[in-house]
Amino acid sequence: MPQTAATPPPDNAPRKRRPPRRVEVSRVQVLSPAMRRITFTGAELEGFAVNDPASYMKLIFPEPGQTEPTRPLPDGPRANTMRTYTPLAVRPEAQEVDVDFVLHGEGPASTWAAQAQIGQVLFLMGPGPGYTLPLQATAHLLVGDDSALPAFETILARLPATARVRVLVEVTSAAEQRALSSPGQLDVQWVVRGLDNSRAGQALEAALRQAGPPDARTHVYLACEAGAMRRLRELLTGELGVARGQIVGRGYWKLSTVNHPDHDYGDDA
Ligand SMILES: Cc1cc2nc3c(=O)[nH]c(=O)nc-3n(C[C@H](O)[C@H](O)[C@H](O)COP(=O)(O)OP(=O)(O)OC[C@H]3O[C@@H](n4cnc5c(N)ncnc54)[C@H](O)[C@@H]3O)c2cc1C
Repeated sequence: MPQTAATPPPDNAPRKRRPPRRVEVSRVQVLSPAMRRITFTGAELEGFAVNDPASYMKLIFPEPGQTEPTRPLPDGPRANTMRTYTPLAVRPEAQEVDVDFVLHGEGPASTWAAQAQIGQVLFLMGPGPGYTLPLQATAHLLVGDDSALPAFETILARLPATARVRVLVEVTSAAEQRALSSPGQLDVQWVVRGLDNSRAGQALEAALRQAGPPDARTHVYLACEAGAMRRLRELLTGELGVARGQIVGRGYWKLSTVNHPDHDYGDDA
């Protein structure tokens, strides 16, 4: 288990379920052709607090024919249409949370986000643990695709001014690039995948190779397509000499797989 990952429960352990919170869309912003920032609000967000950066939560979407999802019961079955997202910004005083959705095409979450309108209702559960940021580290590397951009933004916001941080992000087109900021010393590189998802991670791999070995003390947060995450971790630990314990890898989605689990740290490889 990587040193800086929050420890996920084993696959067969019962997972503690947090109460579902009913939330309404209060704002929809177009950040780029394939990214929507959606603000959710509601009295049931009372007490919703996120501690770690790159935490996650579950969103429950309406089934076909429903205008509002069914509220899950504490001991009832899991909601069918539930997906994992990053709480990007939480404003407790306004009872608001922002979520950035990648519009990747087919999929209940992506399809819902593409049509989202003010007043629509979802249920939200969580949050779950995120990245235990190694604050003593002076060099950080964040590597991933567009689905991890919200997680990266939460990490960047927590870094001290003394930290050097390199961010390498793979997006589908150059139009997806946007400004990132951090109190740390930030260096951002965008690479383009195109629309062929079977190429996920290839542009990241090429950019990492080209940059060569990072400072040996660099701590890495690596989040993208699950197969790509495993290949990139091999590249980092092999050719590029980064200690495995300094890398937290997470599969955020998996090629041709519906609802990939939220706790894929690649421990099988
Ligand atoms: C901890 C964690 C945090 C996450 N945070 C975010 C976040 O803040 N924003 C965000 O957009 N995503 C985030 N994700 C990823 C998101 O959970 C998945 O992309 C999810 O599969 C989307 O659900 P869906 O219903 O759209 O597609 P699914 O029904 O799950 O999948 C349908 C098809 O779409 C493909 N697919 C799924 N996601 C992608 C993608 N991103 N790019 C290309 N193809 C894809 C699948 O391979 C499958 O073939 C996070 C995942 C994890 C584990």
